[in-house]
Amino acid sequence: MKGFTTKAIHGQFSKKDVHGSLRMPIYDSVSFEFQSSRDIQLAFEGKKPSHAYSRISNPTVEDFEQKVRLLADAAGVLAVSSGMAGISSLFLSIAEAGSNIITTRFLFGNTISFLEKTLGSWGLEVRYVDMDQPQTLRGVIDENTRAIFLEIVTNPQLQVADIEALAATAREFKVPLILDSTLTTPYLFKAKDYGVAVEVLSSTKYISGGATSVGGLIIDLGNFDWKYCPKLADEARRTGPFALMTKLRQEVYRNLGCCMSPDTAYLQALGLETLGLRIEKSSQNSLKIARFLQEQPEVLSVNYPGLKNSPYYQTAKKQFGGRFGGLLTFRLSDKDACFRFMDALKIIRRSTNLNDNKTLILHPASTIFCEYSEEERKKMRIEENMLRLSVGIEDVEDIFDDLSRGLKAI
Ligand SMILES: *Cc1c(COP(=O)(O)O)cnc(C)c1O
Repeated sequence: MKGFTTKAIHGQFSKKDVHGSLRMPIYDSVSFEFQSSRDIQLAFEGKKPSHAYSRISNPTVEDFEQKVRLLADAAGVLAVSSGMAGISSLFLSIAEAGSNIITTRFLFGNTISFLEKTLGSWGLEVRYVDMDQPQTLRGVIDENTRAIFLEIVTNPQLQVADIEALAATAREFKVPLILDSTLTTPYLFKAKDYGVAVEVLSSTKYISGGATSVGGLIIDLGNFDWKYCPKLADEARRTGPFALMTKLRQEVYRNLGCCMSPDTAYLQALGLETLGLRIEKSSQNSLKIARFLQEQPEVLSVNYPGLKNSPYYQTAKKQFGGRFGGLLTFRLSDKDACFRFMDALKIIRRSTNLNDNKTLILHPASTIFCEYSEEERKKMRIEENMLRLSVGIEDVEDIFDDLSRGLKAI
């Protein structure tokens, strides 16, 4: 089995189902029985892999994790209750008071808030660099740096990082390169081949299969030797390449209680089977829509890494194999025009989510960035006259019609 979708569909069950069910059932059960007191002891000592209690592990969730492990060619995968649960448990596992994380200001808002406010109050320092200039990392990395962290495609600036260059610096300084790959997923980007240490992502978006459920994934690609992370030194001695997964499963994830529900794991395992089809379709639609918008006189500019005039076109093409994902932005004359445009739409939905099967539109400045001042928004390249389109998998002609309806209304 080589192909992504074949693996997603035929990826193994951990155990054969008693009824021969071709789909892993939803084990909506809290606890699991043992044959003997000896067995339950071995389970608690971690000497005999088994499920005991669903906050710790669950057969349906495990099946989803194993499918993702196969698809990402990973050393270990942990499914959690949301993308933010993934990000927070990961940093709580590798960073301590007095340490620092190097990142960029172009990050998901809640992630910045988590690093700066939540972990900041416990003594973490956040250092910002421009990921477009990988050489600037050298000036800020020191012995207390616990990770270089970034989103592979930033939202909504649509900056695409050159991972090869960043991974080379990370390797030189023995610091893990951690990627939020929500917008690409393991389908578009083979993070393992680029030397990335860990992928963390919101499976709420593309993977859920049409905005069905909230979830997150931590994927250890096996590229980083965790003995170089002081907080994981003990786990690295005991479990080698499984140090991060051990720390999470035996401490942080278990203690935070941020488990994925079996119902979500079922939906998202189903989502994996069509992930490739959906990303292909939304990428094709996005490119057609980006070109369509470029031709409209009312549209001042279009930003999409799949357009040849994007400064990230070559990097994106190389890294994502000629598909460019489902997110684009465009600018109209001003904010009022953006609002009139949005209000006239009949098919495209006004909503904040990403990578749904439905095409969604948002005015970032007045919504997800509303708490920032105009000056801060400028630094983050959030313009008042910019709209963000998350492109779905509809028949693209219907989206063209709807966009034309919007343009007539401005
Ligand atoms: C949505 C999102 C998150 C957070 O995921 P949740 O599942 O909503 O917790 C993190 N990073 C990126 C890039 C996202 O788009």
